[in-house]
Order: sequence, then C-alpha cells, then structure tokens
Amino acid sequence: MALVTMKEILDDAMRKNYAVGAFDTMDRITTEAIMTASEKKGTPVILMVVPPCVEGPDADLFMSYLVERCRRSTVPVALHMDHAPSYEYCVKGIKYGCTSVMFDGSSLPYEENVAITRKVIETAHACGVTVEAEIGHVAGHEGNMLDGNVADPSAYTTVEEALQFYKDTGVDCLAVAIGTVHGVYKGTPNIDYDRLDAIKEELPIPIVLHGGSGLVDEDYRKLVAHGINKINFFTAMTLAGAEAVRKLVEETPKFQMTDVIAAGQKAEEEIVSHHINVFGTLPVHADL
Ligand SMILES: [Zn+2]
Repeated sequence: MALVTMKEILDDAMRKNYAVGAFDTMDRITTEAIMTASEKKGTPVILMVVPPCVEGPDADLFMSYLVERCRRSTVPVALHMDHAPSYEYCVKGIKYGCTSVMFDGSSLPYEENVAITRKVIETAHACGVTVEAEIGHVAGHEGNMLDGNVADPSAYTTVEEALQFYKDTGVDCLAVAIGTVHGVYKGTPNIDYDRLDAIKEELPIPIVLHGGSGLVDEDYRKLVAHGINKINFFTAMTLAGAEAVRKLVEETPKFQMTDVIAAGQKAEEEIVSHHINVFGTLPVHADL
C-alpha cells in the first residue's frame, strides 16, 4: 500500500464517483489521528502539509517522520503539499518526499498562474509527482480561520477559465471556487451547484473543493454527487481536537500530558472517521 501519488488515488475516486478527504497536519498527534481513522476503515487518504512544514530546523525531522509513516501505512496515502505559494516551495516539498504538490497561483494574474503552474508540472512530473492548481479564488485564509469569512461571487471559477487553464497547463487536478471559504463561515454557505455541474461536464480531471469545514453532511454528499473528488478539511478537525482538550481540562481535577494528547487525538480521529463516511470514500478492496 503505502505512499502513492495523488493521481492514483483520485483517478479511482473519479472513476467510481466518490471523494477522498485531504487533511492538513502540522504535528504528529494530528497525523496519527488521520492515519488511524483511515487505516481502521481501509480507505485511501491524502495527508497534507503546509509550507511552514518544509522550512526551519524541524523540517527534516518532521518530513522524515511523515514519509516513513506513509510508507508503513496499510492504506494508500499521498503526501501532499497544500497551498505552496511558489515554484521553490513545490520543489522543497518534492525534495522532502511529497508525492503531490499544490501550486496556488489563484491570486496571480492568469498568465502568471499558468506560467508557474507549467514550470511546477515540468519538474513534478519528471519526479513522478502529481500537481494540483487553483483557478478562481477560494475566499478566506487559514491564518484567519477563526474570524469568519464570506465567499466572493466575483472570484468564483467560470467554466471557460477552468477549461482554458487545463488546456494551457495540463494540470492533474484543479481546485475551483464555487462558494466555499477557508476557515469558519460567516453566515450560511451558498454553493453554486449549477456552476459545479457545468465545470464537471467540461473538465476531464478530478475537481477539488477547498474550504470544506463548516459545511453540513448533506452539503458534502451533494458536492460528491455533483462530482467533487477531493475535499480539503482542516478547520473543523483542529477545532474538534481543541474542544476535547478544553473539556478535559474543565472537567477533570487531575490529569497529565498524555491525557491531553489522547483526548485531542481521539476527537480528531472521530471527526476524520465521520467525514470519510460522509465523503463516501471507498475502501481499497471494494469491488465495484
Ligand atoms: Zn485551501
């Protein structure tokens, strides 16, 4: 099983119409929560790191642990760099063992986004690594995840630009803006399903949803039914872990560090497990 490219995982998801959860991790506890949930269910998973994970004195140690953890996994796992802001970050991710990278040029002018995405693809494909890009702009930023964000319809992805971008770059999968936001929602999410249908109709590659937290189960099921194959999920997971720790501290007179870690990890594992079910991720050996 073990470490595979994201393309392998998403090709199967696209063929059989299900979605795979892509969960961000920045620490060992969250990593184990994600991997344990996936291994118990026997389902493929996308483990995502963010750019700060590949810089600083701890990068080598943490990335080595992640790669080894993926290799020992009993289910297929892609190690993916989420939201790399430059070609250089993508290369760093590849050097550390990522089997997939996302170059996020969504806030750049179209031509510049295309040019850098093409350069990333040239390097990544030479190394057998999958590339995700983003066209249109998913509002909000991970750094501002607790304040609440709203989607901006003027930045939604159009069918024409999604198709043109695919033709111009040959990217492996594409993140689109259809009404979700990064972090916590301010108000009620208003997802443009007609737009998603139109993009799905034209685009021959897997479609990625960013800003997955804050939607309800029914939204996810509908998004998957309308063709989403990868769902990025972080905010709700980390908040669930933090809430479990808060509860432990408030309700238990005496506890030690291992109790805090166990409580946080268990809550994260539970929410990951729940969303694997909701996304309809098929077990590796499911025969269809
Ligand atoms: Zn994102």
